[in-house]
Amino acid sequence: MNKGFFGHPAGLSTLFFTEMWERFSYYGMRAILILFMTASLAEKGLGIDPQSAGAIYGLYTAGVYLLTLPGGWLADNILGQRKAIWYGGILIMIGHLILAIPGSPGIFVLGLVFVASGTGLLKPNISTVVGDLYPEGGARRDQGFSIFYMGINLGSFFGQIFVPFLAAYNWHWGFGAAAIGMFFGLLQFRLTQGSLNDLGLKPKLKEEVEEGVAVGKVNGVLAGALGLALVGFLAVLQWMGTIDVTTATGIAQAVGVIIVVITLFYFLYIMVAGGLNPDEKKKVLVIFFLFVGAALFWSGFEQAGSSLNLFARDFTNRMVGSWEVPAGMLQSANALVIILFAPIVGWIWVKLAARNLNPNTPIKFGIGIILMGLGFVVMYFAAQIAATGTKVGMGWLWFTYFLHSIGELTLSPVGLSATTKLSPKRYVGQMMGIWFVGASLGNLIAGLFAGGVNTENASQMPALFLSVVTFSLISGTLFIIFNPILKKWMGNVK
Ligand code: GLN
Repeated sequence: MNKGFFGHPAGLSTLFFTEMWERFSYYGMRAILILFMTASLAEKGLGIDPQSAGAIYGLYTAGVYLLTLPGGWLADNILGQRKAIWYGGILIMIGHLILAIPGSPGIFVLGLVFVASGTGLLKPNISTVVGDLYPEGGARRDQGFSIFYMGINLGSFFGQIFVPFLAAYNWHWGFGAAAIGMFFGLLQFRLTQGSLNDLGLKPKLKEEVEEGVAVGKVNGVLAGALGLALVGFLAVLQWMGTIDVTTATGIAQAVGVIIVVITLFYFLYIMVAGGLNPDEKKKVLVIFFLFVGAALFWSGFEQAGSSLNLFARDFTNRMVGSWEVPAGMLQSANALVIILFAPIVGWIWVKLAARNLNPNTPIKFGIGIILMGLGFVVMYFAAQIAATGTKVGMGWLWFTYFLHSIGELTLSPVGLSATTKLSPKRYVGQMMGIWFVGASLGNLIAGLFAGGVNTENASQMPALFLSVVTFSLISGTLFIIFNPILKKWMGNVK
């Protein structure tokens, strides 16, 4: 019998620390990514203009989440989860190592392609194995995921502290630290994976064939489309490192449109040809709205790495005594708030549930999106001060991150769990994929926003942030208004 982990299976510890180090590298690198791209050649950056850098940032982060679809498929059908995690981690480490070597923008983009492909392999599959630790599902599985989410944010927090700290001396030390972090993750996984027994060794498809059940199989057409999308994405990203930078925005926008069209087509296909009964159809329609809500939420939230990161660098007074806090470090507030407040928010839901007052999923989505919008109200005022030429205090961004993080806690875990519960059993894998496509789209839009934050058009920033406020307050309110209808469609799912 293996020793447990906070009263949970010992395997959770292996997955917790692997994901912690992976997120250390992912978020650490992300915290310096746009800063490195937009830093001038004299500052040893790539000297790319903010708009194109934002487009590349958006495509990269969108790619990370989009590649979770083929990543999940590969593991389910061919590799098995364990190999997918292992090889994914290796690709991620190689990617960061490439970034750690000073080189041309083309080489730099190659590094991004490696990290995105590796994350696509690792990220969805490590979560799947967490789920597999609890075949009985239920509250213990939810608890397991909450502990796992702590690992994510611990890694994220330390990554966003250490990587920007080192990058302030030399960008490539920062990227190198991300590579070392992933190396620790791999080492740890290798040494302790015995605790997982035989979980994730065989591809799920094989297990299902043996057991005679089929859950979340992706059909051939979808797999083909994904493969094509993957190749296209890699080619475009690679190409963008070499092309005239002004075309980059157009490409990112086009990719956004393609993602939207494919997703709409997918939902239409499932509704018409998915063999759903009327009850399942209504639930899938709710998943569609949750997808829209998630995309909206992440499009504001994920600006932490793009526009808000640039705002931290160019418009925020970061002096503490005689030390200037590196701009990328400010976004670590998100992970810290999650670590501190996740138990409190969880406790509030439990208390409310005891009185039968726990809000429904659509209401929580509405609240999450509104909180995201309120964060941008703070930025609207901060940008007005910044537009006058005065740098603002760090408290503005911290307050925004605080509101965004409470929003994340209200929306993200709830959305993930509601998606699994609303999905017809046979489509659950694909619907989880759709959830990540929402994140992908949000990241893309967040990248496109970054172009608006630069010292040359500071006077337009308040209007830019206000547009996010208007959009999110309206859509968040719509979720709350339409809650009764969505609730009816959700049937027995809360
Ligand atoms: N911060 C979380 C993670 O990295 C959620 C990200 C997301 O779903 N967009 O896992």
